[in-house]
Amino acid sequence: MTDQRFFGDDLAQSLRLMDRGDCAGAMRHAKLAFVSAEQKGDSEALARSMSQMAWCCMRLGDPEAGLECAVAARRLWSQLGDAVELARIEAVEAFLLLDNGLSDDAFEMATLAVATAESGVDPSVLAFALNARGVTLAVCRQVSMAVPLLQRAISVAAEAGARGHHAFALLNLGFCQVKLAEEAEANEDAASMDLWLDRAIAATTEAIEAAEDFGDLWILRVALGNCAEMYALRGDVPSAMAHLDRSAAVPGEGGTSLRIHYLYTLATARLRSGDLAGAQEAARQSLDLADKTGQIDHQLNAASQLGRVFEAQGRFEEALALQKRYHALYVRQSGETTHRLAKAAELRAETRELRARASALAAEALMDALTGMPNRRSFERKVEDLAGSAYALAIIDLDHFKAVNDQYSHLVGDDVLRRVSRTLEVHMAELGFAARLGGEEFVLLLPHHDTEAAVAVVENVRLALREIDWGDVAPGLLTTASVGLCSTAETSHHPDIMITADMRLYAAKRSGRDRTVWRDADQRRHVG
Ligand code: GH3
Ligand code: MG
Ligand code: MG
Repeated sequence: MTDQRFFGDDLAQSLRLMDRGDCAGAMRHAKLAFVSAEQKGDSEALARSMSQMAWCCMRLGDPEAGLECAVAARRLWSQLGDAVELARIEAVEAFLLLDNGLSDDAFEMATLAVATAESGVDPSVLAFALNARGVTLAVCRQVSMAVPLLQRAISVAAEAGARGHHAFALLNLGFCQVKLAEEAEANEDAASMDLWLDRAIAATTEAIEAAEDFGDLWILRVALGNCAEMYALRGDVPSAMAHLDRSAAVPGEGGTSLRIHYLYTLATARLRSGDLAGAQEAARQSLDLADKTGQIDHQLNAASQLGRVFEAQGRFEEALALQKRYHALYVRQSGETTHRLAKAAELRAETRELRARASALAAEALMDALTGMPNRRSFERKVEDLAGSAYALAIIDLDHFKAVNDQYSHLVGDDVLRRVSRTLEVHMAELGFAARLGGEEFVLLLPHHDTEAAVAVVENVRLALREIDWGDVAPGLLTTASVGLCSTAETSHHPDIMITADMRLYAAKRSGRDRTVWRDADQRRHVG
């Protein structure tokens, strides 16, 4: 479910078709968008088209291909650093993992999607992620915990005016509530079963209205089919039939699957209402049609349905014969499932590795390669975190460092920089933050220090640098440094603090080095 409306023609067209529930058409245009993004080498357009293809696959019932698209798209979004799109594709991937039979991984991914979405700014994506988390929880048999998540998804979507997401969350709330009804039935708790069935029908009816209003025919068709099944569970044949008829009348792709589902639900309704002959006829037709498609899932569902009808009729031998006939199918399906799980697990392993590599890269981006201490970018982030609060800042520049390189070699110079950085880090461990700005220039950040309070700390550090024993690397070396210091007590504007500290550093150099300056030249305040 993508909400953007301003990308290349094919993608825009694909999004429009998807909103109308024309998933096959949406897929065609998403593929065209993919091809043109590849030709242009436009990675953002590539990510968008693959995200769209993943969701199309999900709706078209091709979870294997969908998962491959989703993994590739997620990789791109995380490189592009777009939290909203990342959360969206994580939620899509959660739905796809679920349809691949990997419910634990699906739940983990949906949890990640919610966390990512909560850090973003797009409430419709948050609704979508909450929806994924609710559904994956429900499938992991934590249905009662799923309901409040879906209720939150519904209200977030409604508040954001995200009508497609709103309808989709209502659809899934109904799905969870009917699961609770089935659980109650298994526990022979008829009162709870009725209650949950009522709620499921109410939520799904709302989903039907929302989908009709928004014009998403895919959600409409699924919701009508689900609602028919709910009425069938209740034994309300006329209502089940009415919903099935409406579902069949929805224009667009429905085809054989829908027809099989129709007959299957009809059999359930008739069985519940005691019309065993009618149930047998519908179940038989459903099975015949499923056999023609050769789709194992349909065949198994239809066969077990017919088996239930035979049992209700007391025709146990026929039920047994049917069971034997479909046992082989069941074995084949298990084989296929194993294959599918193995393939999906392979993708997941690759994803974990990528995630680990991505976080290593992210850490590297904030680290100075020579010294291993935080770099300038890391320092800038730290300053952003401190915005609005009090801090002091000291820029430290080693004196005559060029001479160290010239006199001892560049390698010794590197050693000196490493040891200086370690000394700074040790001194800042509990007081603040140290970073290498570049070359032989470092910075110290001291939260909650005004200028005067910071001078004592910084002087301590400067003297510690002076006292380093260089006997092992550069006998006779003395490291002195010049320091310029400023704090938010003087100006709250960060760039001004940096400029002032830098000017004071320059003043320290000019007035003889090996000292800290924390007042402007005319005030003649320095120590050293
Ligand atoms: P001043 O007291 O005025 O600061 O003199 P200085 O020699 O320290 O200043 P200058 O900016 O002229 O020279 C800085 C030197 O630092 C130049 C460069 O060779 C050296 N340098 C910068 N980065 C590195 C590094 O990563 N490793 C080594 N070994 N040297 C570096
Ligand atoms: Mg310098
Ligand atoms: Mg220097």
